Amino acid sequence: MFNKVLIANRGEIALRVIRACKELNIPTVAVYSTVDRDSLHVLFADESICIGAPNARESYLRSQNLIAAAEISGADAIHPGYGFLSESADFVEMCAMHGIVFIGPRAETIALMGDKSEAKKTMKSAGVPVVPGSEGVISNFNEALSIAEEIGYPVIVKASAGGGGKGMRVVDSADVMESNFEMARAEAESSFGSGDLYIEKYLIEPRHIEVQLLGLSDGNVYAFGERDCSIQRRHQKLIEESPSPAVSPKLRKRLIEAAVTGAKSVNYISAGTIEFLLDARGDFYFMEMNTRIQVEHPVTEMVTGTDLVKYQILASTGESFKIDNAETCIQGHAIECRINAEDPEKNFLPSPGEIKALNLPGGPGIRIDSHAYAGYKIPPNYDSLIAKLIAFGKNREEALMRMHRALDEFVVEGVETTIPFHQKVLEHPDFIAGNVNTGFLNQFLS
Ligand code: ADP
Repeated sequence: MFNKVLIANRGEIALRVIRACKELNIPTVAVYSTVDRDSLHVLFADESICIGAPNARESYLRSQNLIAAAEISGADAIHPGYGFLSESADFVEMCAMHGIVFIGPRAETIALMGDKSEAKKTMKSAGVPVVPGSEGVISNFNEALSIAEEIGYPVIVKASAGGGGKGMRVVDSADVMESNFEMARAEAESSFGSGDLYIEKYLIEPRHIEVQLLGLSDGNVYAFGERDCSIQRRHQKLIEESPSPAVSPKLRKRLIEAAVTGAKSVNYISAGTIEFLLDARGDFYFMEMNTRIQVEHPVTEMVTGTDLVKYQILASTGESFKIDNAETCIQGHAIECRINAEDPEKNFLPSPGEIKALNLPGGPGIRIDSHAYAGYKIPPNYDSLIAKLIAFGKNREEALMRMHRALDEFVVEGVETTIPFHQKVLEHPDFIAGNVNTGFLNQFLS
């Protein structure tokens, strides 16, 4: 077991990791930028170290500051959370060079899955279905044209180093290929430092279904059912649930088989997620693998009764342990709404500032993961997630009723939030019926 874990992150996820460490009896070190000094993760950790200026490049993304903080505090492991350095193979190697355990997959796995076109190739050769498209990176738009001709329009041009919905362009016809290709390339270059692009068939209104995995060093890979993350705005998830209303036990078995096969083919260790697109015919295709704990992991924890972050930490100790079959089975239903400090009336414009008053909901089946408190100043420097509201029920109907009730109880004063937006989505007949796809929000918002 680790002597001390440093959490290389902030906000709700830093708090989440501290909670897991506390229950495992591991002392924790929080790090913070100067603007995060009064953040709850700093107060809840056993120790804390300032790692730099508000700009993430000078603090949460600055590897050497994090390694120095670990060395000064005597932490022997680093949990990266999500975002920031969580998917940086270079950072993993740097940790290893300093004798610090990175709580996550091996550097090779992160590098392989981080290159999305290579990840697709790897999965395809393991027998996992992938979206039809280019074999790897394409070098120019003429190649894009000929592949698009072959697979048929619409197609989607994607950044191989992509993430967070950036560097993606849907192309409907040949005459707009060149302009879209160049725009995607420019965005990919400025966001990821690499203009490598690949191309695939753009599926019409698919569902986004992902399988939660945990690989152990003994070679076992466990799957904890699926999550449906089809409620997205500009490719960013806003509501997630488990199980998916569109997944039958038979389909679940196939999804899990494909995900476990894919993860085993790269000897996957740690928590991770394989994302699929599911079409109306019930066919699914690998999209990407996230080699970290995800924002939406709590819905899976609620329906399986597990603590994925604890398991993720234990998986990195190298000790082998068994996970009971019952722990991977879904029971009941859970939904998560991301409460962002954004104004849904103003195109989801970020709304940083001081939270003047706060009432967090509670009662049966409600879980909140949040670093917010009354008097907390949301800095403008990072993402706008201030709370994850999770409702659990014995079935979807009960989970939805509880979510309704909890959103009504949730009061945030001083900043705008996505609470009213969630209330509206929850009243939509298609959402209530579970009849949604990744195009739902665009139509809903237009
Ligand atoms: P990122 O890593 O930037 O989040 P993903 O590859 O995970 O990018 O895609 C994000 C979202 O974009 C998906 O959840 C889906 O809504 C949409 N998308 C991506 N690829 C396709 C595709 N081939 N067809 C239809 N929609 C897609």
